Amino acid sequence: MKLRGIAIVKGYTAGEIFIVDSSYDNENNDIKIEQVEEAIKLYINYLMEEVEGMENKYKEYANFYINLLKSPTFIQNIKSKGNNIIQSISLAIDEIANKMLEINDEHYKSISNELKFFKNELLDFIRGRVDNLEIKQNSIIVAKNLTVRQSLKAIKSNIKGAILETSALTSHPVLILKDKGIPTIIGIENAVNIAKNYKYAILNDDEVEFTNETLIFQTKSIDIIYDKDEFETKDGIKVKVQINIDFPSEIEKIKNFDIGLFRTEYLYLNGIIGKNEQKDIYEYMSQKVYPKILTIRLFDLGGDKVPLSLENTSVRGIRYLLNYNRELLNKQISAIKLANKLKNIRILIPMVSSVEEVIEIRKLIEDIDIGIMVETPSSALITDRFKKYVQFFSLGTNDLSQYTLAISRNDINFQQFHPSIFRLIYYSFSKSKPKPFSVCGDMASNDLGLIALLSFGIRIISIPISYVNRAKEIIGKLNKQMLSEISRKIITAHKEEDILKCLNYYLDILSK
Ligand code: PEP
Ligand code: MG
Repeated sequence: MKLRGIAIVKGYTAGEIFIVDSSYDNENNDIKIEQVEEAIKLYINYLMEEVEGMENKYKEYANFYINLLKSPTFIQNIKSKGNNIIQSISLAIDEIANKMLEINDEHYKSISNELKFFKNELLDFIRGRVDNLEIKQNSIIVAKNLTVRQSLKAIKSNIKGAILETSALTSHPVLILKDKGIPTIIGIENAVNIAKNYKYAILNDDEVEFTNETLIFQTKSIDIIYDKDEFETKDGIKVKVQINIDFPSEIEKIKNFDIGLFRTEYLYLNGIIGKNEQKDIYEYMSQKVYPKILTIRLFDLGGDKVPLSLENTSVRGIRYLLNYNRELLNKQISAIKLANKLKNIRILIPMVSSVEEVIEIRKLIEDIDIGIMVETPSSALITDRFKKYVQFFSLGTNDLSQYTLAISRNDINFQQFHPSIFRLIYYSFSKSKPKPFSVCGDMASNDLGLIALLSFGIRIISIPISYVNRAKEIIGKLNKQMLSEISRKIITAHKEEDILKCLNYYLDILSK
């Protein structure tokens, strides 16, 4: 049976079907106690490493937690509380915190308070390190939709391809697959039910074939041109290309390109939270990419990337770090500073909405370039006000669209070609001059979006490796006159439909 969908990453791949049921993730409810004990051992090591070389005061703090975690009664208490281990750990620590409050002493009161932070960090760590979801190695996954955790797990399981019912182009789970270059087709209606009757799936660009015939698996890898990071239009306009990555290992495939966006929150969601662990990763990446630039985005937690510690807060990105988790922010910044021996690291601040946030971050960082994500309408409208404080801007069209249009980026009706989005892009870009302004949002790795952005004069894009070849092809066919016609039409359009019609018209011409 053959079906067509939307190819997120084009390519040919084939393999055994593995259906990812939406009930799988379920917040790791069926974690086993042995796995928790293992994770706790790792957490104790992490605590010991973190305080190594620090003053005795900090070592004493760490010892307090280490003793608590090692105590047999703590584990016994967890075991006695029922099947949901995450909840049981939470209850066990709450009980200790409450007992300390009962003592009615300032010292114990403050320990009780700290225990809440400790609890959240420990639980996020355990969730990241213990993963019960089993995805068959080297399979083709089929799902209605994926969560961020499922997507991360799929990558770890070396899946060969993905078929999804959803058609949410810019959801994080889909972007993870795209950045990693996994052949992915979305928008296949009823895929899960259909797949239940078959053993294998073959993906060929936007076509999927379900079959029961034994296959000879032959995966064609996508050839990528890595030699130069500047592509030219027909008449010589230069466009600088940078790369978006989600995992440190992706750096291995990249040569001669800046990393325009490294989404660090996936480190966090994988339980990598310690300063030393982070420092080692950033340092390795900066060496690999040198003399090119590594842009590290501070943890953008929130939205659909929610750790337990954030469950009761409604803010996201930098506001979460500044207002609710300074400790995490400080650890990440210290790790980056220590890793920046080659001076090729830049810091990108996510979800900025006001100048004060940048000033606060600036106080913590002296000699590293900082830039902001322009991904909230509030920041897009005042890029001129930020200029004094930042070295560069990076436009996040995914969040900018969802927050402007009041529709989740995970929704199938999500759109990014609305006239308001282009006004915001045009305005924020013009007001940001002369600072470098790149686009790392998904619009830059979408044929129609790329044409539109270039027509506005944007000359730096940050895209997944899987889109580099296609971007080169499209850029090479454009010229100045065409671009100015396109921008005029977009700016004067009243409706999204008109913008899409115009962009499709030019894309057709380019494809001839
Ligand atoms: C964006 O919002 O466009 C962006 C690049 O950030 P992320 O997709 O990681 O939210
Ligand atoms: Mg974003």
